[in-house]
Amino acid sequence: MQDIQIGGLVPFTTIDYPNKLSAVLFLVGCPLRCAYCSNPHLLSVGAGEYDPERVFEWIKSRIGKLEAIVFSGGEALMQGPILFQYIRRVRELGFKIGLHTNGFYPNLLADAVDLIDWIGLDFKATRQNYPDLTGQNIAYDNMIKSLDVWQGTGKDFEVRITCDPRFITKSDLMEIADILHRRDVKKIAIQKYVPHFEDGANKTTDAQRNQFFNDEDLRTQINSMFESVVWRE
Ligand code: SF4
Repeated sequence: MQDIQIGGLVPFTTIDYPNKLSAVLFLVGCPLRCAYCSNPHLLSVGAGEYDPERVFEWIKSRIGKLEAIVFSGGEALMQGPILFQYIRRVRELGFKIGLHTNGFYPNLLADAVDLIDWIGLDFKATRQNYPDLTGQNIAYDNMIKSLDVWQGTGKDFEVRITCDPRFITKSDLMEIADILHRRDVKKIAIQKYVPHFEDGANKTTDAQRNQFFNDEDLRTQINSMFESVVWRE
């Protein structure tokens, strides 16, 4: 049987699943090519570096020490049913299951809703800027469908917006906040863009990256629209 492909593992984190001690597995493969991707080594499907069975044994050894296992990537859902089988086994050990997703696979997310307790969903830009940022024309529409799927479950989630000034303006951020507010999303996170590699021709400055976080009026306005807004600077 084919195994899931794991390209990275963070053994302990307090920030990747709300209010739970967790570990994060980074799965290989992603249908998007975001300009700011910090995990380019995970984008192409190929042999994962970690033996899934050894990782599973390690997860077993974390019973009583960790509360949740988060599947991230890449885009974990890209691995489809073999991922679901793996998650099922991890769930049976008693862990909560988190998923960090770009929302590209709403149908797979719908298939997996009973296996997942919480998601962090990327809302990367306005509809207009999505193709430039992600290299995919249908990424925005798919992400909105995924949002619909998850909201239909009534389960907890967070929508994440990474503010890369090459692809998002303050007025775009307000537009996105407004869309999410109208959809009755409760929790969002606004994340600072940190260049992990060269920005290429369009180098960004600290001032450009900080503009979303230094604007008190913008912060106050957005904070008033949601139950929880985390500003990850
Ligand atoms: S969705 Fe995430 S992993 Fe995929 S290219 Fe974009 S930033 Fe990288």
